[in-house]
Amino acid sequence: MDPIFDLIEQERQRQTHGIELIASENFVSDNVMKAVGSVLTNKYAEGYPSRRYYGGCEVVDEVETLAIERAKELFGVEYANVQPHSGSQANAAIYLSILKPGDQILGLDLSMGGHLTHGSFVNFSGIQYNANFYGVDRESGLIDYDAMRQKALEVKPKMIIAGYSAYSRDLDFKKFREVADEVGATLWADIAHPAGLIAKGLLSSPFEHCHVVTTTTHKTLRGPRGGLIMMGKDFENTYGHKTPKGDIKMMSQVLDSSVFPGIQGGPLEHVIAGKAVAFAEAIDDQFLVYMKQVVANARALAKAMIDNGFDIVSGGTDNHLMLVDLRNKNVNGKETEKALVKADITCNKNMVPFDDKSAFTTSGIRLGTAAITTRGLKEADMEVLAGLINEVVMNINNDRVIGDVRKKVNQMMEGKALFNY
Ligand code: PLP
Repeated sequence: MDPIFDLIEQERQRQTHGIELIASENFVSDNVMKAVGSVLTNKYAEGYPSRRYYGGCEVVDEVETLAIERAKELFGVEYANVQPHSGSQANAAIYLSILKPGDQILGLDLSMGGHLTHGSFVNFSGIQYNANFYGVDRESGLIDYDAMRQKALEVKPKMIIAGYSAYSRDLDFKKFREVADEVGATLWADIAHPAGLIAKGLLSSPFEHCHVVTTTTHKTLRGPRGGLIMMGKDFENTYGHKTPKGDIKMMSQVLDSSVFPGIQGGPLEHVIAGKAVAFAEAIDDQFLVYMKQVVANARALAKAMIDNGFDIVSGGTDNHLMLVDLRNKNVNGKETEKALVKADITCNKNMVPFDDKSAFTTSGIRLGTAAITTRGLKEADMEVLAGLINEVVMNINNDRVIGDVRKKVNQMMEGKALFNY
């Protein structure tokens, strides 16, 4: 047998026995998996439903149309493009649609919770465009909206980005829009992390205030890996350089052509089918029950971590994630991530605001509850989990203690399927 299949089995065992706390990960349903592993992977379909550059697209046209309709229903939006291969691809299409190279942009600093595609100097967004950043307040750990406005007035960005990879609080999209209007910028929300929570109304909606919205489909949304672009009802003031202000039809065309042929070739129709399945699952009321449990678990974990002496940035969480500042425990993010992996607890090292360590070492870790909630863990498990994390951190060089924690982790997850919700 091809050793690849042995490796896939090893990875299944790793996922099954361990506790998955990476905030951007989740476990998909069997139906999503079935769609992604289907014959649709064999089909080329450059273009869009009923406007293809290949024959034989009648079936995939229906698949893609269903995915679009379900995305529109789930988020209550006017426009959806389901083709981006990833979150970064969706974001690249936004840049291509709205900006010219060299334009000023304003996003959340990577070291304060932003994403690479929001202007980092190592990413196309920081290489092609003039990136400026806003951040969080040193004391509260919350976004400093006044400083963001000051920065916007100073640099007059063409586009403002509201979105995060490592920020645990709700966003004030109305405030972002006021600033965007004041300086004549397009407002783009990247809801890659909280998309599922937003879809079910558990966090503020960006669609009333933002001109364009992107997301990944594989984090809280619990679909296959991929991207999605949307526009809500408020498109009147879209300042795309290629389109007259306020024409959603034209703006839709610009966004579509930025994805294909702008930055991609053939769409991944098997993944698009997986997205359609996941959107239907998310439309279902049971997904609201799941999302509420994700938030309840995150709050319980943050509280239990604080009870164990950990410092949580901003003192808690409104969403599915939290940033743990490890400096008071005298360990860094890199060694903590490594020790936790030995205990079958997976998370990622992460810079904390005003970090004095590099992105490679970091002073923090990021924890998320989307995946463990899908496994079926509840609030009481969060208390146990925080205690186990503390045991590892307090014994970071003691492999015997870490081995004991690992046994407890494996026991905790025994008999739990990957998808339990
Ligand atoms: N945008 C945000 C806010 C993210 O957190 C991420 C991924 O973590 C992305 C975009 C990029 O997604 P992908 O990894 O699918 O390119």
